[in-house]
Amino acid sequence: MIIRLTIFALFLTLFSMPAHSDDAEEFKQKHIDNVRMIIASAMKDSSAWESLAYMCDTYGPRFSGTKNLENALAWMKRSMEEDGLDNVRAEDVMIPVWVRGNEYCTMLEPSVAKLEMTGLGRSIGTPKEGITAEVFVVTGFDDLDANADKVKGKIVVYDIPYISYGQAVQYRVHGADPAAEYGAVASLVRSSSPIGMNNPHSGSMRYKNPDVKIPHAAITAEDAAMLGRMQKRGQTPVIKLYMEADTLPDALSANIVGEYKTDNPNDTIIVVGGHSDSWDLGTGAHDDASGCLATWKAVKLIKDLGIKLPRTLRAVMFVNEENGVRGGKAYAEAHKDEPHAMMLEMDGGAFPPSRIMVGNKNDSVLAMLQIFNPLLHEIDDSLNVVPGWGGVDIGPMSRQNNIPCLGLGTNGEGKYFWYHHGPSDTVDKIDPKVFNQCIAAIAVTIYLYANL
Ligand SMILES: [Zn+2]
Repeated sequence: MIIRLTIFALFLTLFSMPAHSDDAEEFKQKHIDNVRMIIASAMKDSSAWESLAYMCDTYGPRFSGTKNLENALAWMKRSMEEDGLDNVRAEDVMIPVWVRGNEYCTMLEPSVAKLEMTGLGRSIGTPKEGITAEVFVVTGFDDLDANADKVKGKIVVYDIPYISYGQAVQYRVHGADPAAEYGAVASLVRSSSPIGMNNPHSGSMRYKNPDVKIPHAAITAEDAAMLGRMQKRGQTPVIKLYMEADTLPDALSANIVGEYKTDNPNDTIIVVGGHSDSWDLGTGAHDDASGCLATWKAVKLIKDLGIKLPRTLRAVMFVNEENGVRGGKAYAEAHKDEPHAMMLEMDGGAFPPSRIMVGNKNDSVLAMLQIFNPLLHEIDDSLNVVPGWGGVDIGPMSRQNNIPCLGLGTNGEGKYFWYHHGPSDTVDKIDPKVFNQCIAAIAVTIYLYANL
């Protein structure tokens, strides 16, 4: 047993050692010409951005359960076929259908004013007559606990300071439960975005306790702050909230898949993808039309250049990331017996590519991939392989089959969450040249990984 453990430890040590510099140099020399060719091809025109803009403009918001989404998926499949990818297909996925319906939020006291709002995915609606109640503003869960006796019968408003998305989103996802437990009749949360511009930002929420559900919606940063100021002054705002939100039976949708097949009989698969669905307020250009188009066009680019690979590249446009991850889960189930070498997702916005992230805390893969860095520097000197995470959609398969998962990290200097899940996530926010750099970064990474 001890000997086996020692051998295992030795193996791990050898495998996780940074690549020897001679090996790294040899790897670089072997692939530099192809890498430069891939980058030049990615940067040569704005055709990929034109496809991205066409999809966002023509099909609009692609929310799960809508005709828009299904039309966009049909277009993706047709376009992949026109692009000459192999084995283009739609793989069935059953998706949840949450419908927003009509909704509004009106302040009635101390003055009448429309408050921009968005119901949060999975929330229940209000009764037909709406909910009219006094507001109680809290700055976080601790503040709510400290004022537990003051919220019964009221609409709780979380006017939380935005520190990070990870911190703010806790209130969007989990805000309804504690408010309901203390007797609140509805809860509103400041949108999970660093800036306001009076835009509400949508997203999913969850109920822990199915017996005490209250409607849960997001309001703008400006209105949350205003309600907070009023309460501090001793004013008691009164709000009417109306939501028709409802959950309908699941519907049939699909993951759209296209490949660049290898003729290697011992073929393993490299998956690249993004998610095809978006929230319904904007056209989801950054989140995640950009991830879909960038990954699929990266596969097309390598195929068009005629570069032969020992592994199959598979572009997967995962459906329903936003309110169910059903596409990622269905992929894991449908492909559990196929040998996968790696999965890579782009779902962080089309900003300048800044890092190739290795998820699953996979130190040995991270060490191995340092050999990519000199070649990634052909795109940008700061582009390196670093620890991080892969993506939501590739999570189920990569965890289930223990497959290395990678993510494209981009540096939007925080701007991603200005637009995220909001009405302003439109294609004009994406620079065609920067989008091409994202495609180049993905194409180079999958090309190199296929050649490891
Ligand atoms: Zn996304």
